[in-house]
Amino acid sequence: MAAHLHAEVRVDLDALRHNVGLLAALAPGAATMAVVKADGYGHGAVEVARAAVAAGASWLGAASLSEALVLRRAGLEVPVLCWLDPVSVDYSAGISAGIDLSVSSVRRLEAVQAAARVAKRRARVHLKIDTGLSRNGCRPEDWADLVRRAAKAPEVEVVAVWSHLACADEPGHPANDLQAARFADAYAQARDAGLEPLRHLCNSAGLLTRPDLHFDIVRPGIALYGLDPVSGAVDLRPVMSFHSSVALTKRVSAGDSVSYGFTWTTKTDTTVALVPVGYADGVPRGLSNRMHVLLRGRRRPVVGRVCMDQIVVDCGDDVVEEGDEVVLFGSGERGEPTAREWADTLGTIDYEIVTGMYRARVHRTFR
Ligand SMILES: *Cc1c(COP(=O)(O)O)cnc(C)c1O
Repeated sequence: MAAHLHAEVRVDLDALRHNVGLLAALAPGAATMAVVKADGYGHGAVEVARAAVAAGASWLGAASLSEALVLRRAGLEVPVLCWLDPVSVDYSAGISAGIDLSVSSVRRLEAVQAAARVAKRRARVHLKIDTGLSRNGCRPEDWADLVRRAAKAPEVEVVAVWSHLACADEPGHPANDLQAARFADAYAQARDAGLEPLRHLCNSAGLLTRPDLHFDIVRPGIALYGLDPVSGAVDLRPVMSFHSSVALTKRVSAGDSVSYGFTWTTKTDTTVALVPVGYADGVPRGLSNRMHVLLRGRRRPVVGRVCMDQIVVDCGDDVVEEGDEVVLFGSGERGEPTAREWADTLGTIDYEIVTGMYRARVHRTFR
């Protein structure tokens, strides 16, 4: 790590390419849509998208239209789907850029039709059915009307029918089969209306556990980044690691306390190392006294409160020096903590850890 950097997120694009290839091999009949919303889950959307496409992904998925346009402007030419925007969004810019748009209601369909007239180009649309998540998507009782209108609208080309699973990370959950049945029904209605759309349903967990539901496209997100939402049985490689270095070392004496509020007091004389990363760099304050780092080949505890800019590591009687590398989390291969370990301690999921790592002060480098 360059000496002047306080904190560095490293993104291992080799690992990402490996994961894309592995996932594509697990869904051989389907195209891969690499989901790069939220700046590629904090890894860098454009870099991730380029690497994913190079490794065989033939679609990209984004949440908002502005995220999708960033990919297009970066020169990515594969189909890009976006699925969530306020109704005030300017769809015509997306249509002009050839972005695929998700539609969950008649009102949205009409907005897209109007935008297509402005853009003087047909809009590529994926009709979304709510099969039980009760979040985005068209309710089954409104579906026939939406499908009929979309089939008749000259301004739109219906590319796909799609939905999203609620409990795919619990393979035995009855919701998965129920959603699959409703999805089949929605597709049949689209066919009855004269459409011949593609179908897509699976996120990472669905891809890993339900080969019968892969259909034409799978939409992995978290698994691309090497984080396994279900089992641990596949060889996914974590893509992100988080690094800093020791800024100062000192001996403290038995009875001395460390950091704000004196929440930790040493029982013996010990060496502590100051590391210049804190909650402003993505180290959650909730990990105070509950995390370790890898320093000189060993896991060592962070003691006392996590501050805005710094943490303190207890190194006992070991020799540590200013400039020594500190790994906050990574793949776990060298014994360092993982994003999953942070998430488990905090009672959240690793998605939230990596996605939260985008900070102005943290340098991001790509390998
Ligand atoms: C985020 C998202 C995905 C990817 O989900 P993962 O659990 O990260 O694989 C797929 N589809 C939709 C609609 C999403 O919003």
